[in-house]
Amino acid sequence: MAQAQVIEKKQMRAPIESGCPDGMQYMHPLMIKNFGNWKYHDRPRPGVLHHVAYSGDEIWTVRVGTQRQLGPYEINLLCDIIDKYGEGFVRFTIRSNLEVMVSSWDKVGPLIQAFNDAGYPVGGTGNSVTMISHTQGWLHCDIPGTDASGVVKSLMDELYEEFIKEEMPNRVHITTSCCQINCGGQGDIAINVQHTKPPKINHDLVANVCERPSVVARCPVAAIRPAIVNGKPSLEVDEKKCICCGACYPPCPPMQINDPEHSKLAIWVGGKNSNARSKPMFQKLVAAGLPNNPPRWPEVAAVVKKILYTYKKDARDWERVGDWVERIGWPRFFELTGLPFTKFHIDNWRGARNSLNASAHIRF
Ligand code: SF4
Ligand code: SF4
Repeated sequence: MAQAQVIEKKQMRAPIESGCPDGMQYMHPLMIKNFGNWKYHDRPRPGVLHHVAYSGDEIWTVRVGTQRQLGPYEINLLCDIIDKYGEGFVRFTIRSNLEVMVSSWDKVGPLIQAFNDAGYPVGGTGNSVTMISHTQGWLHCDIPGTDASGVVKSLMDELYEEFIKEEMPNRVHITTSCCQINCGGQGDIAINVQHTKPPKINHDLVANVCERPSVVARCPVAAIRPAIVNGKPSLEVDEKKCICCGACYPPCPPMQINDPEHSKLAIWVGGKNSNARSKPMFQKLVAAGLPNNPPRWPEVAAVVKKILYTYKKDARDWERVGDWVERIGWPRFFELTGLPFTKFHIDNWRGARNSLNASAHIRF
């Protein structure tokens, strides 16, 4: 018995501690068989993709929107549907949609019906508002200034019809970011946290918790200096220089920057990563200082819907939000959406060239 255990132990594969598992092992057999040999694809209805291989094999993919935070109950419910009406193969998209693959068109209708009966919409393909790509928020990350999943759920509840239909001029990608420095991405419409006050330092904790040199190095405008406060090593912030970015908060939680009143939300418009029809674009700020107002964020939802429906009405076919704004011009964008144009929309900060941490050198 003991010998058998030793042999069994020797045969165990060493755990791989980093990286995601090989996706091929989870793929639908038809996808493995035809890997790299697809002839064309189309969309027979919103939420369904149809791929045809050179071999003549066909596969249908049903895209389902989720509420993003899935507990064991929801996972079991969805897996039961997939086992019963699908073929047991599923993948998550980057935007937390489920994609269920089946090898016959006959299975698509009952699968969609089962998802809809369970309260899950099918859509998000083609010229729709697909699921909002978002970040971890309070669920996993250590630096958020707000929740992310909550904003996404409440907004997608309001944009439900635009998810299940394909009636936009082109696809619309909405993103959220719960801090000012990381996951925001380039969205057609982006909802990003905006801190408006410098961090408050808890000097009693800095020496115990923070590596002061790394915090000093982290500041993009060199506003942080080492200091001795009440006889203890701590830090100080030059508030005139601070741009309230929040980059010091992750390596040094005692530099608290989150604030229920002064951490706001801002909306940015016109970003895209795709180079189809026009070059990739950076998003631009269009609304700032919106209240961070859980659980439904009504002020943010109102601005997003205003932008979205103005775009839907005014854009030409196949124009992304950024293309539309480029064509009509930013003054017209503000006129049509009714959003106020303020001094905060003008990027006149000329200090970047000298003080931004664009190289490995620290400047004081
Ligand atoms: S946006 Fe910032 S706070 Fe939110 S998950 Fe990404 S890194 Fe964390
Ligand atoms: S890292 Fe950002 S928030 Fe912190 S002091 Fe520097 S500019 Fe201000």
